[in-house]
Amino acid sequence: METKLLTIDNIAEAGEIIRRGGLAAFPTETVYGLGASAYDADAAAKIYAAKGRPSDNPLIVHVCSKEQINDVAEDISDDARRLIDAFMPGPLTLILRKRDRISDGVTAGLPTVAVRYPSHETARALIKAAGVPIAAPSANISGKPSPTTARDVLEDMNGRIDAVIDGGQCEVGVESTIVDTTRGTPVLLRPGGVTYDMLKAVVPDIRLDKNVLSSLAPDEKPISPGMKYKHYAPEAQVTVVEGEKDAVQAKIKELLAENKGKKCGVLIMYGAVYDDAVMINGGYENSEYARNLFAALREFDRLGTEIVFAEFRENDGCALAVKNRLYKAAAYRVIKAEKTAKRPCI
Ligand code: AMP
Ligand code: MG
Repeated sequence: METKLLTIDNIAEAGEIIRRGGLAAFPTETVYGLGASAYDADAAAKIYAAKGRPSDNPLIVHVCSKEQINDVAEDISDDARRLIDAFMPGPLTLILRKRDRISDGVTAGLPTVAVRYPSHETARALIKAAGVPIAAPSANISGKPSPTTARDVLEDMNGRIDAVIDGGQCEVGVESTIVDTTRGTPVLLRPGGVTYDMLKAVVPDIRLDKNVLSSLAPDEKPISPGMKYKHYAPEAQVTVVEGEKDAVQAKIKELLAENKGKKCGVLIMYGAVYDDAVMINGGYENSEYARNLFAALREFDRLGTEIVFAEFRENDGCALAVKNRLYKAAAYRVIKAEKTAKRPCI
């Protein structure tokens, strides 16, 4: 199959592909999605095949209006309604009770469905053109960093899907915030552009799932099936080095010296100072770092980097989202860099 590269002038064509049971990738404000009709179980199966996605990891259903949420979900709680009113359209996904017309192929057999109403104009126009809600996970090979440009999508999906719409770089850069509203008190399952503080302002008793920042116990069954899989991992081995500027830079210099002879890279937050390393700028603000993170991880791989050290410190509302992705990309290899005590002058 040849994958067509479409522009925003070809949205009708992409909508037609989806309506007829094909696969089209499209830009959103978070990352690129790989879309199929949410009412077509065979099309959903094609998504799993194209991504190599485990069949028990459900898809997010994208709609283009608040009214359309009622076509795919029912028994929507008061808290869920508050969150819809506050943050949709935008980078928020809610877990709701599913209607029968959403196939088990989309929800991996769960009685619930993940629903998102994106703010990105192209995404909304595509859902409208398709005439059906669009089931779409991120448009990457399972386990790899999510794509934030059409080039990233093609790197993974060329020849596996019918088309990709090129809409430039995604603004948020990490996947949507996911909140489960089907178990009483809402639970934040995945942090994203709608931050924990923003959610708390609307639903004060919302809780954070404990798996957001730690790995699962060996036999633990997570609420969100996606939590148990390897995620966001480039070929390079990633280590997060976390802390204040001086301590982080000193630690990374030490690590680079220990790994001389290997092709090393540094994902920069504080400013470039390293010799003999591939350096890519993540950005100082966590929101900027979120936008650049996946693109940087992919670029390190293109450059053949074997080991990546990622500078990191929490400094704004996007910190939790970045930390969650970065820790997973690093398989929880995190070094807390401490300030070394200055020697007393004698
Ligand atoms: P992706 O679109 O690649 O970001 O993946 C969608 C994420 O949503 C995965 O982590 C899924 O496990 C999660 N998800 C989708 N549907 C549900 C659901 N019904 N309940 C809990 N998590 C879900
Ligand atoms: Mg994904």
